[in-house]
Amino acid sequence: MPEPIIKLKDLEITYNPGKANEYKATQGVSMEIYPGEFVAFFGPSGCGKSTIFYCILGVLPPSAGELYVMGQNPYSFSPEEMVNFQTNTIGIIYQAFFLINSISVIDNVVLPQIFHGVAPGKRRRWAKELLKRFDMEKYGEKFPDNLSGGQSQRVSVSRSMVNNPKILLADEPTGNLDSVSTKQVMESLAEINRVDKKTVIIITHNAAQLSYAHRVFYMKDGLLERIVPNPEKKQIAKVDKQKILVTEMDKLAKIYPYETPTRLKVKSLVNYLTQDIDFDQILRLEDFIELMVERKICKEEFIGLLSKRYHEGGLGLFPADARNMADKVEKVLKQSEDARRFRRRFMNNNFFSREDILVQRLTKFVAEEHGKELDAIQKKRLKELVYKRVAGLVSSNEFENALRLPILEGGVSISRLRARRLTLHFEKILIQGTETKGNEH
Ligand code: ADP
Repeated sequence: MPEPIIKLKDLEITYNPGKANEYKATQGVSMEIYPGEFVAFFGPSGCGKSTIFYCILGVLPPSAGELYVMGQNPYSFSPEEMVNFQTNTIGIIYQAFFLINSISVIDNVVLPQIFHGVAPGKRRRWAKELLKRFDMEKYGEKFPDNLSGGQSQRVSVSRSMVNNPKILLADEPTGNLDSVSTKQVMESLAEINRVDKKTVIIITHNAAQLSYAHRVFYMKDGLLERIVPNPEKKQIAKVDKQKILVTEMDKLAKIYPYETPTRLKVKSLVNYLTQDIDFDQILRLEDFIELMVERKICKEEFIGLLSKRYHEGGLGLFPADARNMADKVEKVLKQSEDARRFRRRFMNNNFFSREDILVQRLTKFVAEEHGKELDAIQKKRLKELVYKRVAGLVSSNEFENALRLPILEGGVSISRLRARRLTLHFEKILIQGTETKGNEH
């Protein structure tokens, strides 16, 4: 068992100590990371991931506790030793790339070598090789502002490797990238770990990326909550065999990464009581539905995937159930188009006569879901309510309550159960009708 390459013991970092705005960002964090490991720091925004990261990098001294990188405390280094440490031992990749736009791509890559007295010709050859490796060779003489996000990040991956560091720190390296570029960058990091045997630490809050890591360090509120080894990777660190066992808990931790172990056990039981499909199927179903939401497959293809046997890559549903599910998805997606159109106009204050048609159509969808004939006054009230909800003037609770209220009290006078079902259906339409741009919602 090798010595840890990074070791933290009861690490505590307090911002603005002694001041009114003093803030303890991490407390009692202990961890050991081994040479050649790929680890992920994972947790919600503000839990202290970057704080630990910058502490390891040597720019944020611990307020208490100990930090060792390759057996040494970086905060005991002289200024020259620190520069050497930050350029030779550690390579960094930032979410925002931090490339210099006024110099060429290749010059960006060689930049960290300039302080090393490496001959210019040699520097450029090495940089070229790296660019080639990350599929950016033909962009060497271009300027960074001509590159896409994914290309820029591949340049920064090349730059981070130019001094052949032992450790690569990547702070949300794919935070600004689309899914294709994300995959390329993650694959590059995985290759650097696997082939070059570098220790890779990434900060992420994307659960899909956890599968690249040997171990995931779950953080919450400045604490290291738990360390979970990835059962699909051969472990480098010594881990409890028990923990390697793939249980539903591990799967659940991937689906609900921010939940406590108790809440995961609760979810497991709730799934058992309420669902006919298990978590593996849910994950697969999510992939299939994503294809539908992004309009990449048609309804018949969706039905095909749902009814294909599980071990052949499908969901294993009976054909009738598959069709029923596909009908529901198709209906919500179709109906959500009008909600999307309405919201777009509403946001741009761009109302013309068609606004009323959209509300009328949305009202019709809700009324259809109701299944019973509504009288004129109920229809009028429903339409008003639909308008208010889609315009964001009432909450879903208020919408549901107003559906239930008697006519005399200004409601639509629909039974409690139906009001619940209609509200649920309408909320699904509204969610699907929300504009999505990149990762934002
Ligand atoms: P994460 O990377 O998990 O999003 P951070 O490590 O950036 O979290 O931040 C942890 C906590 O410390 C947050 O509540 C943040 O507001 C606070 N924090 C981060 N940097 C500073 C700073 N320079 N001064 C004061 N508080 C800070």
